[in-house]
Amino acid sequence: MPSLHWTLHCVKETFLDFCLFFDSHIDRTLRKSGPLYVFVCSSLTVSVAVAYFWFLLPALLRSLVRPLVVLHILLSILLLFNILFNYVMCMLTPPGEPPTQKLISGTEYAGIHLRFCRKCGCIKPPRAHHCSICQKCVLRMDHHCPWINGCVGFRNYRYFLLFLFYMLLGALYATATVSYMLFIPGFFTSSLSREAKVAVYIFILCLSVAISLLILLGWHLYLVATSQTTIEFYENREKRRSSILAGRKYIHEYDIGFYYNLKTIFGSYQHLWQLLLPSCRPLPVDGCVWQTVDSRFDISVV
Ligand SMILES: [Zn+2]
Ligand SMILES: [Zn+2]
Repeated sequence: MPSLHWTLHCVKETFLDFCLFFDSHIDRTLRKSGPLYVFVCSSLTVSVAVAYFWFLLPALLRSLVRPLVVLHILLSILLLFNILFNYVMCMLTPPGEPPTQKLISGTEYAGIHLRFCRKCGCIKPPRAHHCSICQKCVLRMDHHCPWINGCVGFRNYRYFLLFLFYMLLGALYATATVSYMLFIPGFFTSSLSREAKVAVYIFILCLSVAISLLILLGWHLYLVATSQTTIEFYENREKRRSSILAGRKYIHEYDIGFYYNLKTIFGSYQHLWQLLLPSCRPLPVDGCVWQTVDSRFDISVV
């Protein structure tokens, strides 16, 4: 008769096998359904844009003076352009892959000891992680995003942030516009016109998106300010807890100051507002070697 210990061992093994099967099943499903997520995200964005420009803007413009008409048209085009630009760039820009072993001899690269990924066998620089959905290592990996059908990492994180920012502005702008239309006499009546039905669709969709993006963008701004990725935030939980218990303020090892944290994500800049402009400026680091609070490598001279 099997002992209790043996039974527990079998139950544990079966449970772990099930978790692994479930995990790989989710990864496979996400990998295959990636294009569908992109299609849904693009369709919703385009549907709101078309509905706004086709139905809402003409109705709004009839009730405004000419300078305000021009302002609304310019603002709408500006927001739409930035949303599409950053979304497309986020998808098309590879997040960054570690250098291949052929380019490196020995076990050191730029003074850092090399680690190797157990899953894909490639070199794994600091802050790089293996994405089980993309099945490769990604530099400064933040997370795998189904909405772009890829990883958000070292090279495309800035486009991801700007996409969230402009999408939030666009959603707030559309919500505010529909709210204003409540005060246009005869627009919302007991029998809803086609424009009014479109306005209700835009209002519900944009308000839900704005609330979700406000939380998501706030979270990512905190990560940017402290130079953490989403993965690092969870990895640092224990260190943060011990620091708080010891009465010390926890500082992440790659948090080298707000100005330089932004520089590693957006590239060089002189004024903060320049970060909001569409740009493909190069990054000052290669994504493999990172300045830490007490390292020799100094980003400020790059
Ligand atoms: Zn890997
Ligand atoms: Zn991925």
